[in-house]
Amino acid sequence: MKRTKIVDLFAPEKLGHEVSVMGWVRTRRGNKHVQFVALNDGSTIKNVQIVFDMSQFTDEQLKPITTGASIHVTGLLVESMGKGQTAEIQAKTLEIFGTADPETYPLQKKGHTLEFLREKAHLRPRTNTFGAILRVRSALAFAIHKFFNERGFFYLNTPLITASDCEGAGAMFQVTTLNLNDLPKDESGKVDYSADFFGKPTALTVSGQLEGELGATAIGQIYTFGPTFRAENSNTPRHLSEFWMIEPEMAFYDITDNMDLAEEFVKYCIGYALDNAKDDIEFLAQMYDPELIERLKFVVSNDFVRLTYTEGVKILEESGRKFEFPVYWGADLQSEHERYLVEEHFRKPVILTDYPKEIKAFYMKQNDDGKTVRAMDVLFPKIGEIIGGSEREENYDKLLTRINELEIPMKDMWWYLDTRRFGTVPHAGFGLGFERLVLFVTGMTNIRDVIPFPRTPNNAEF
Ligand code: ATP
Ligand code: MN
Repeated sequence: MKRTKIVDLFAPEKLGHEVSVMGWVRTRRGNKHVQFVALNDGSTIKNVQIVFDMSQFTDEQLKPITTGASIHVTGLLVESMGKGQTAEIQAKTLEIFGTADPETYPLQKKGHTLEFLREKAHLRPRTNTFGAILRVRSALAFAIHKFFNERGFFYLNTPLITASDCEGAGAMFQVTTLNLNDLPKDESGKVDYSADFFGKPTALTVSGQLEGELGATAIGQIYTFGPTFRAENSNTPRHLSEFWMIEPEMAFYDITDNMDLAEEFVKYCIGYALDNAKDDIEFLAQMYDPELIERLKFVVSNDFVRLTYTEGVKILEESGRKFEFPVYWGADLQSEHERYLVEEHFRKPVILTDYPKEIKAFYMKQNDDGKTVRAMDVLFPKIGEIIGGSEREENYDKLLTRINELEIPMKDMWWYLDTRRFGTVPHAGFGLGFERLVLFVTGMTNIRDVIPFPRTPNNAEF
């Protein structure tokens, strides 16, 4: 008999038929006449109840059925008498795939803390919480491709190994095949990278944007969706050393087009998750965050506030609030400042624009005031910055002047500058940190809990 996934079991037309299910045991309880097993196969947050009539089975047969064991059951699917169940299976046959010794199975007990589960990252996908998170994450990834595909964007794959050490977004992980115990040196005693794999120093990318611009200035509208790496020693609930980023880049877009797209994009993804991962989001709300669904619906149905950095700083200065990091015009805003604006002042997501050029990247379009650039950060409740983007400086001379001011090594930038030398166009783009979106939609509070295998300083076990 063909296996039925548990997610497909609750359709009314399945009732009264023989079914075959396979999965992992959540619980077993009962008495000497009847035993009940709650089975989950990962296809849904829901378990199916399997009823064993103990006149048909022996105690010996059911003994290996403990929490975590994997089994295969066939039987009749019938309407359930039990509370909250629509259907249950009257077991006819039982096959045990694998046992899970209750003495040693780490997830034997219910109600482990998220911290404990981080230490068991290899098994935590089998918990209700992580099953729900992984399914929401997958739904969001699909929504992202769907959103861009429906709008005629092309999916562009940018390299993970890069030779430009000037991307500027953060510290990088070096990539090398040199023997670190016996490094080749040149006459001046420096490492001789001509002997390295690529003949020069290389690292894991911190962003696909610069290559994304090459795509956008050729095929119009592109997006990337892939891993990025930051070697910063930042142990926060919002930073990973390896995370996934979505980076759309659009020719002929200005900063307003860019903001409109960013707002439509995040609303679409959240709306998609609400419609397509409802059971999982409801479970997470019930377990961790009672206001979750209300918050998600609020974001989807309200306009984001748009204001300049200068106006934002003024509000913060006049707030009378004592912040850990002082706030003044020119300061890089910290998460506490961003969250004050979003959670306390406006009570809405905020898009902050026109930041001081000193705290933003070299490629952002310079405003006529000579002080600010056309940057835009999208700030969310609970998260702070979820998106960072800008209109790009398309003027060759202005871009080059900025590169020289910041003493960015030109030899690394020649290919990027060619986009401005040949057929330059106004263009814009942004980067969404995928895990920050998953954090927001799942209501989790630590970014380590929304990626299957988190990489953070001192943590690359699983
Ligand atoms: P932050 O100020 O929060 O450290 P950033 O300004 O350095 O972020 P960008 O370079 O603008 O980040 O990257 C674009 C987006 O990628 C951010 O808006 C954020 O959503 C996400 N992001 C950046 N760094 C990380 C990280 N270490 N882990 C997870 N997501 C990140
Ligand atoms: Mn940013």
